[in-house]
Amino acid sequence: MPNNSDLIYLTLQNALKGLINKDFTAQELVAAHIAQMDATHHLNAYITQMADHALNAAKDSDARIAKGETRPLEGIPIAMKDLFCTKGVRTTAGSKILENFIPPYESTIGQRLLDAGAITIGKTNLDEFAMGSSNITSAYGPTLSPWKTPANKHCLPGGSSGGSAAAVASFSAIAATGTDTGGSIRQPASFSGIVGIKPTYGRCSRYGIIAFASSLDQAGPLTRTVEDAAIMLQHMAGFDEHDSTSVNKPTPNYLDEIGGSVKGLKIGIPNECRMEGMRSDVLELWEKAAQILQDVGAIIKPISLPMLKYALPTYYIIAPAEASSNLARYDGVRFGQRVEGDSLDELYMKTREAGFGPEVKRRIIMGTHVLSSGFYDAYYVKAQKLRTHIIQNFQQTFTDIDLILTPSAPTPAFTFGEEPKDPVTMYMNDIYTVIANLAGLPGISIPFGLSKPEGLPLGMQLIAPAFEESLLLKVGQTLYTFAEKDPVQALREIV
Ligand code: GLN
Repeated sequence: MPNNSDLIYLTLQNALKGLINKDFTAQELVAAHIAQMDATHHLNAYITQMADHALNAAKDSDARIAKGETRPLEGIPIAMKDLFCTKGVRTTAGSKILENFIPPYESTIGQRLLDAGAITIGKTNLDEFAMGSSNITSAYGPTLSPWKTPANKHCLPGGSSGGSAAAVASFSAIAATGTDTGGSIRQPASFSGIVGIKPTYGRCSRYGIIAFASSLDQAGPLTRTVEDAAIMLQHMAGFDEHDSTSVNKPTPNYLDEIGGSVKGLKIGIPNECRMEGMRSDVLELWEKAAQILQDVGAIIKPISLPMLKYALPTYYIIAPAEASSNLARYDGVRFGQRVEGDSLDELYMKTREAGFGPEVKRRIIMGTHVLSSGFYDAYYVKAQKLRTHIIQNFQQTFTDIDLILTPSAPTPAFTFGEEPKDPVTMYMNDIYTVIANLAGLPGISIPFGLSKPEGLPLGMQLIAPAFEESLLLKVGQTLYTFAEKDPVQALREIV
């Protein structure tokens, strides 16, 4: 029987086994994670902690286990990105404008996880409305990463699912939910040394997730191992009639593929991802990943993705355009915060002026600009056309290969206080991830090595054709097994 404080180091798979074997109770498991949530309070990974709620739910789980009515995620403590509506529990989207918003319903994904027996222990911090790459735009203060630089300065966990990444990396949650509009699951996973999957657009329901850019948003899990990501995805994925873009396709058994041979799989290495001025440690690690896959029997093929150079400009037109219309609903009348004014227009203006932070305002201005009548054809329509070309570019590429391998991000984590201050430099960090969102494809980030000389995590990204998440998990597991350092061990050493 493990020591109670060691329970936080269990994988999801082993925690489930331990609960069923009665090695420990769900209440002990949840209490250990709550203690770790308190011990890591300085990271500011959570906006709302749900300790009492979680302990009560753990009591129910123990009762079910005693009766032999164990559900597939019974008693597993998870963290929920504060972009997912939680029934009766404040949901802020990291924004002041939703400071007091208590949703009357649960998101579909949240409900599925709860129905499977998972226990939400808290709502995690995020960039305001998921707009950001380092978790510094939250109205509730930045989240710090448990990773530190050699000079002992805290890093940032990446964003926008930075609170979820920090929670999983610092062992206060076994797994967490995230959302990824342009990289917000994969980039924080890469920065934090954990696994993150962005599923195919339509695989997971968006119902009850506060919208950023609806044609790009997709939810997925952040975990410390690939198997745990498979288990979480299993219980998050699936058709939902409440989301008109949800796809009615059966969910495969994701654990089945893990451990399978990658022999004969064709893996494309896009020339265009080899950027001028690229960091040599990132390049070397990427080459090493390709070499390892080749050594175990995969076929490595150089490929060309000529449309890659248009990905960031296309994304940074479409995402703000959709955001500006999605955020129009926060007008002080129906949701959240209100600042009174002498007229209705003044009420709108004052509410939005006080409620939104600078990055959100920047996106709204960009979005309304590209949608305005004088610029719609010049920007928005062109971006949509480019998006179609990007999709076709991928379709063409996938006739020849099975998967694409790239770094997840061009850099390791930013140091807190030394992150890029200029928004465009920050946006450039999304260079490898936005393509998957624009094309609706699934992508995974695998912790694969450490940066030089800082020793910070670097992730490798795999992108697959639509609905081939199983392939991502299979090849991802191979990379994970050959990581320079065991990813869980690396986390244990820093926490
Ligand atoms: N960093 C990107 C942005 O700021 C992606 C965010 C996301 O995926 N939610 O738009």
